[in-house]
Amino acid sequence: MNREEQLQKAIQRREPWDVIVIGGGATGLGIAVDAASRGYKTLLLERYDFAKGTSSRSTKLIHGGVRYLQSGDVRLVLEALKERGIMCRNAPHLVRECSFVIPTYDWWETPFYGAGLKIYDLMAGKLGLSPTRLLSRDETQRFIPNVRTVGLRGGVMFSDGQFDDARMAIALARTAVDHGACLLNYAPVTGFMKNKQTMGGVQMLDAFTGQTLSFSARVVINATGVFASELMKLDEPIPQIKMSPAQGTHLVLDAAFLSGQHAILVPHTADGRVLFAVPWQGKVVVGTTDHAVADTPAEPQARRSEVDFILEHAGTYMTRPPTNEDVRSVFCGLRPLISKDADAPSSQLSRTHQIHVARSGLIHVLGGKWTTYRKMAEDAVDAAQSISDLPDVPCRTATIPIHGYDPGSVVGVVVGDDAGSTEPPAPLGNYGTDLDEMRARYAPTDFESISEHLFLCPAQVKWAVEREMAQTLEDVLARRTPCLFLDVEESLRLAPRVVAQMADILARPPEWAEQQINDFTHVARYFRLPES
Ligand SMILES: Cc1cc2nc3c(=O)[nH]c(=O)nc-3n(C[C@H](O)[C@H](O)[C@H](O)COP(=O)(O)OP(=O)(O)OC[C@H]3O[C@@H](n4cnc5c(N)ncnc54)[C@H](O)[C@@H]3O)c2cc1C
Repeated sequence: MNREEQLQKAIQRREPWDVIVIGGGATGLGIAVDAASRGYKTLLLERYDFAKGTSSRSTKLIHGGVRYLQSGDVRLVLEALKERGIMCRNAPHLVRECSFVIPTYDWWETPFYGAGLKIYDLMAGKLGLSPTRLLSRDETQRFIPNVRTVGLRGGVMFSDGQFDDARMAIALARTAVDHGACLLNYAPVTGFMKNKQTMGGVQMLDAFTGQTLSFSARVVINATGVFASELMKLDEPIPQIKMSPAQGTHLVLDAAFLSGQHAILVPHTADGRVLFAVPWQGKVVVGTTDHAVADTPAEPQARRSEVDFILEHAGTYMTRPPTNEDVRSVFCGLRPLISKDADAPSSQLSRTHQIHVARSGLIHVLGGKWTTYRKMAEDAVDAAQSISDLPDVPCRTATIPIHGYDPGSVVGVVVGDDAGSTEPPAPLGNYGTDLDEMRARYAPTDFESISEHLFLCPAQVKWAVEREMAQTLEDVLARRTPCLFLDVEESLRLAPRVVAQMADILARPPEWAEQQINDFTHVARYFRLPES
């Protein structure tokens, strides 16, 4: 994947594209894979970098959503459990099974949550992971050594999927390109081209050259998530659908706060949400919150109240309560929820997706979850077929392997004490079969980490620039690798070395490197704890 090659491919096409996708998050990338694999000439345009929006800021779970079972959204849970199974099958190098323990402190909790989770297992059917188990007090302590023991009665253990969202996005981008799609990052759509009132294409600005380009298309799909309203307003003065964005924040702590491979799930917090503490990439991700917001900035800022809420609730379940000093990074995302009832709290708005065809023929794909990205894409491309003269081709993505697919990295069930939790992937396990090519291409010393606190090696930087369309320092440190999400201060320390390597590969002058550091330092501010 090379941006210059992709740009030339886009410019040189004389005929209209079959499908233009706006937005390079989970939804847009899924649509590009779906449309290209049906044989449609597909162009995807992303305003910043792939997964810069909500798709790199999730809780990193591929799950049916136990919480939605509590709220009775059975259809969503069934759909998400099916998609979880499909993702485990098509991307075993990117999704791993992770076991969650619900520690119980009241007599009724073990049978209550146990029964609910047995139903959850049954709903997954043949695509299920390890079965739910009821745990004694001793077992709960063994699986979660740092769990608060005062009043502990036992626990319930169940399984869901876990992944690296940004790397999954890059793998989807590469899958789309493998199937012939053309993808551009740093390519904001700034306007539409219409024949009378009918959608005929888009105008895009090349963020690096300032050049405006126009592309015509048979179908245009708006997959811009929480930013969808901006394009709706470009299309029609009064959009027919209203988005209700809701912010969610996560804190990242050192692994010591949750020794072991099992995650904690707190089923009911004060605001009626579930709280997760999940081991991820050698750290622990704790979150999340849920509150409605009016604005949708590219860099949402965590609120002090969210941080306090998470620290307080996490502390209730851990022997050593985390404090501000223990937070390595803070990240914040905006949920693309669809507004139905203006008074409903955001935690009660459904996560099901909707496809809406505007009067112009512009297709909006709204709502949804990372877990259901493939189904959302299928529904969107089916809608594209039904409103245009595109040839009728069935969706194939349920069986298409994701780029890097490695049959050796099976999402497997482990027995014994570690039941339900597969080994955490080796630092480069997410690259799947690409790792073979990386090893053939780069020197053995390129695979040695340059950090004592995080895993980051020169081979990852080279690969990101040469094969994964990374254009900026932030692309490398936030999405081709998860450094910024894991440890903001360490990422800032690593930045000069990484940018020097990038400048070398891209033959950029020192001023470019300096600007990159400035830009990255600005973005990193949002990953620090907010002021009181
Ligand atoms: C706190 C939180 C936790 C979550 N946890 C989970 C989880 O554990 N599991 C799960 O399944 N789901 C989870 N979700 C939901 C999931 O992350 C989202 O549903 C999903 O990432 C949305 O993807 P998207 O592609 O629709 O939106 P986005 O990822 O936001 O992508 C939209 C893209 O459109 C681009 N764009 C905007 N305007 C333009 C333009 N004019 N031109 C070109 N491009 C443009 C943006 O830059 C952006 O990259 C979570 C969400 C949040 C907020």
